[in-house]
Amino acid sequence: MHDNPRTMSATQDTERDIEEAVPARRATRQAVVCWGERRVTIGGDAPVRVQSMTNTDTVDVVGTAIQVKELAQAGSELVRLTVNTDEAAQALPRIREQLDRMGVDVPLVGDFHYNGHLLLTRYPDCAQALSKYRINPGNVGKGDKKDRQFAQMIEVAMRWQRPVRIGVNWGSLDQELLAGLMDANAARARPLSAQQVMYEALIRSALESAQRAEQLGMPGHQILLSCKVSSVRDLVAVYRELSRRCDYALHLGLTEAGMGTRGTVASTAALSILLQEGIGDTIRVSLTPQPGEARTQEVVVALEVLQALGLRSFTPSVTACPGCGRTTSSVFQELARDIDAHLRARMPQWRREYPGVESLRVAVMGCIVNGPGESRHADIGISLPGTGEHPAAPVFVDGVKRHTLRGDDIADRFIDLVDDYIRQRWGIAAAAQS
Ligand code: SF4
Repeated sequence: MHDNPRTMSATQDTERDIEEAVPARRATRQAVVCWGERRVTIGGDAPVRVQSMTNTDTVDVVGTAIQVKELAQAGSELVRLTVNTDEAAQALPRIREQLDRMGVDVPLVGDFHYNGHLLLTRYPDCAQALSKYRINPGNVGKGDKKDRQFAQMIEVAMRWQRPVRIGVNWGSLDQELLAGLMDANAARARPLSAQQVMYEALIRSALESAQRAEQLGMPGHQILLSCKVSSVRDLVAVYRELSRRCDYALHLGLTEAGMGTRGTVASTAALSILLQEGIGDTIRVSLTPQPGEARTQEVVVALEVLQALGLRSFTPSVTACPGCGRTTSSVFQELARDIDAHLRARMPQWRREYPGVESLRVAVMGCIVNGPGESRHADIGISLPGTGEHPAAPVFVDGVKRHTLRGDDIADRFIDLVDDYIRQRWGIAAAAQS
């Protein structure tokens, strides 16, 4: 008699230890981003940071400051701005002043291409107002100018003690480097694929630029790297290799991810694979906004990715079942929507009053099948009556059934119970600390 290989495999699997759900973060050096007396760290033991980028004309000081404020309020911990002209560089100190007047506590990152060496040296107030510079090695110049212009930017960064991100993008890859690698590849006995050569060019461009910056005196911990591409699989391959070859802090992001659902899903897929492997110290979701859509959507997606992976908590989570044929009224969808909106609206105040409240877990479930079980696993959960069920909604608090709601105002009363729970649990903790 032969052993069934599938049975054997299942038996062996049960004897193995299940892997840790969250592997350790890859060890990286820690960059320090300062503005005034304030600072935020990236890499090392810092949490994965969320970044975003404005799409206003930087010359429009008030419009740009308002958008930076919106992005910061949405949860962006650094905001990048285009610095492409003399006028944009001159606007930077005024944007910083405007933000300080508005009480917006977020560092600004300057995005430079082609003329960054000129703008940073010509406008020291701009260099000072920015807390970090992004340098694209594919866009700092050609031939012998390239090294000189790159060095000028690094020298300004060192003078102001600013970290830099060496941000390679496959759309603006250093063509001289790529051509050299292509020639060398053609001479190999077993040439690599064009895709592999492109990966190598991206990684080499970032690493060689970082080494050059260190040779110029830049501390290695103040250098971050990114190698952005627009395909999920390419991004994963490139960052796995990049993280294997260095310990600089890494900025993750899928470039040109696209609009709406497609852009959100592609960014989420790419970032999640890498973050789950412990790769990535700061992230940006590059979404093209739908006409009329708020720029803050890219920040919302970035926060949700980190929260879904269990890496950070920003907003209480609402677990809701998808609904099915057992939920023929809209009561359940409306309550899930209302409780989520209520929690998000109150968070700016609760974050100050009730530190830790962002870890709250609420469940809103549609019927008795999974409702009580899921509600027991949440901090506070409600199991609404499905079609044909007894018209009562048990509420579970810390795993114990505490209330049963009936009538037309179940939603309002459940929201009141959630507010009471928050006050009791985190209000007492806040009072004890003060
Ligand atoms: S909990 Fe009930 S209503 Fe919700 S999906 Fe499951 S069976 Fe359907």
